[in-house]
Amino acid sequence: MKNNATQRLKGQAALVTGSSSGIGAGVAKAMAREGAKVVVNYSKSPEGAEKVVQEIRDSGGTALAIGADVSQEDQVLRLFERMYEAYGTIDILVNNAGLQKDAAFVDMTLADWQLVLDINLTGQFLCARQAAREFIRRGVVPERSRAAGKIICMSSVHEVIPWAGHVNYAASKGGVMLLMKSIAQELARHKIRVNSIGPGAIKTPINNEAWETPEAEKKLLALIPYGRVGEPTDIGDVAVWLASDESDYVHGTTLFVDGGMTLYPGFAENG
Ligand code: NAD
Repeated sequence: MKNNATQRLKGQAALVTGSSSGIGAGVAKAMAREGAKVVVNYSKSPEGAEKVVQEIRDSGGTALAIGADVSQEDQVLRLFERMYEAYGTIDILVNNAGLQKDAAFVDMTLADWQLVLDINLTGQFLCARQAAREFIRRGVVPERSRAAGKIICMSSVHEVIPWAGHVNYAASKGGVMLLMKSIAQELARHKIRVNSIGPGAIKTPINNEAWETPEAEKKLLALIPYGRVGEPTDIGDVAVWLASDESDYVHGTTLFVDGGMTLYPGFAENG
């Protein structure tokens, strides 16, 4: 735990959806280290969420686990109510929950398509709308932040890189890009900052088959000019900065955190 004077999110309440594992857990821990009171949201893993909460508490931070499926409106409303009962308000929303349900395009069922869109895109809409309502109601609290609230959408390099075999996922992240930009445009006058993080390949349960054997990792590294697969802490550090006043003039943009994956590495030797 950093000392109070240097904590960049001191006293702010942060909700990180889907933070019982992977990137969300990394973001929740990083924000707690910077003084935020964190809600660790989960849908299916109360044990995973409790583990993250315990880790945060053990290092002197404040955290609480709350279950909710972000694709269900009633559950999202209840999630925010429970957060307000515990922390009074929200200052930071990290729209992180997401999943893949991969299939060849011609074999993709409507259920595969719908599930991914419901969680990855509609879930971000429902949570962002709820957070924005509270940010507008409460306004800026200058002791905590220059902004009335911050929304960070967990997108992906696949908001711009097409992905065969993952059409539902790429479509959901492409949707997140214009959801983020459109609400950034609409909410700026309320001093609400909205941005996305576009991770490249980060070692989490969502993609373990892509890095857990040396052969798979070698294949993956061919797509990453910087020469290493990312870790959840790489995203946690950037999320803290994006939520802090250090990035107060950053609005409506996607910050790719990808070791250069969006640089078309296939062209490096073929100019
Ligand atoms: P992960 O599977 O560890 O995390 C996803 C989390 O979302 C899990 O905790 C899961 O329980 C939760 N979740 C799923 N459905 C939910 C629902 N309906 N309601 C609430 N929570 C739900 O994988 P991750 O890699 O940490 O993924 C986190 C985010 O990062 C996702 O949005 C993913 O698309 C994005 N992302 C990951 C990578 C990567 O390489 N790992 C790359 C780009 C983008």
